[in-house]
Amino acid sequence: MDRRRPVILTAHPLQRIGAYALSCLAGIERPEGRTAGLPDPQGLDVDGFDAAVAAMTEDAVRAALVRDTKVAAGFFLKCSMSFFPNSKMNHPSNANRSDEEIAERVRAWRKPQRSVQSGSGAVGCVLCSQPAAGFFGKTDVPLAESDVYRNTTPRGHDGMALCWACVCCFYALPYGSWLTGGPSVAVHSWDEDFLAATVAAQVRLTRQLVEIGSAAGPALEAREVLALRALRGHQHELTAGVELLVYGNNNRGPVLEVYGLDQALAEWLRRTSQRSGLRRGFRALLRAHRTAKEPGYVGLARNAFRSPQRIPGGCAVWLATAVLRPGRAEREDEAVALAGLCFDYADKVMLMDKDDLDEIRATGRRIATILQGERSSGKLREFYARFKDSGRLRSWLQRGAVEWLGRPRDGQDGPLVSTRGFALLFDPDFDNPAWFHRQMLLVSVTEELFHLGWRPEGSFDDGAEELPELDVKDNEFAGDGGRDER
Ligand SMILES: [Zn+2]
Repeated sequence: MDRRRPVILTAHPLQRIGAYALSCLAGIERPEGRTAGLPDPQGLDVDGFDAAVAAMTEDAVRAALVRDTKVAAGFFLKCSMSFFPNSKMNHPSNANRSDEEIAERVRAWRKPQRSVQSGSGAVGCVLCSQPAAGFFGKTDVPLAESDVYRNTTPRGHDGMALCWACVCCFYALPYGSWLTGGPSVAVHSWDEDFLAATVAAQVRLTRQLVEIGSAAGPALEAREVLALRALRGHQHELTAGVELLVYGNNNRGPVLEVYGLDQALAEWLRRTSQRSGLRRGFRALLRAHRTAKEPGYVGLARNAFRSPQRIPGGCAVWLATAVLRPGRAEREDEAVALAGLCFDYADKVMLMDKDDLDEIRATGRRIATILQGERSSGKLREFYARFKDSGRLRSWLQRGAVEWLGRPRDGQDGPLVSTRGFALLFDPDFDNPAWFHRQMLLVSVTEELFHLGWRPEGSFDDGAEELPELDVKDNEFAGDGGRDER
């Protein structure tokens, strides 16, 4: 072990989270610059490392002495089953052992280990190549394979060669994770600043749980919310995507689920949720994701990780609904701000060509001119209903094109939908996300109707009627837009 720098950040996400948690526990922070105050595993020396490891050992002893996982004080002990099953901390035999015996066994389990020699020389840690302290299995390393079904080592062999520093990173992992008592949730990124800040915030929360306990574990509306909160709190531009890891190492069945958010979307969410100029749009974005059962940030966070294509779709529906409920200035301001956010999404997340987006927006303005001539909302509803089926939308636009030619056009040149516009909206080419362009068309139409101050008769009041969800087929989300045309 390098005495000046015992911990090395490796390519293992859970080791990395643990390394940051360990430096938080040691109180080692970056001294200066724009990231001053963030935990710094590279700055952790051996004294800080030993102190943090000793503190974790005493936390483990305290938890073990509770013996009962069903009481609030036993929460950390319960969680330990999902990290270090069958360890000295939570061994079933503890029920019949004295306090002294349990404490001694836990301290022996966590006692610093020296490097091992094997054959011709020292064995290297599989993660960081420092001399290994031993071979470790699932009792010490979450998600390590059990020797019962591992076939890369002889039966009974403990498994992975790890150095003491890496093992201690795994011991620190619970502090950097959202604990539930069952599978834990952790946020990971290759953006070191973001990971440092996120783990630091998590360690502050988890330490309280370790010390005070919890009757049922902390409440979390949805796992994805954890990452959205972290993004919202981060002050610097993201340089990498974000992963959400849901994992458990329980003896009854290890689990690992990984949800990813690419850098562009993560950065867009971070920026839109923070900038004061975008706040109004963000508020509308949350409203667009609100349901009767769940607040908007839950729906937004879930969509971001599971089906990001639903984000602009949900906004388009909300905007169309807002047009039909005019008369509330605040809502109208929010609607225009939300339309702006959607175009920003097209630019920053979908990397849509500016000329193409301009083409869609111009098409939307022309369609809005037609709809504006209507006194009732019937034609807008009909137009909206056509979004369920790209073939029917196409024929609506073709009919509208004829109507467009025969009417005064307020100085707007050209056809209702240009050849390029039709290609963008309906070309089933894999490179052309036609489904997304159609969503942007709906956003453009509604934005223009707001600008024009259109007030249809027979519009409904709050809660009276909802427009159906924009039900785009899954294969269209995959970039297969328009293939079902008739
Ligand atoms: Zn190592």
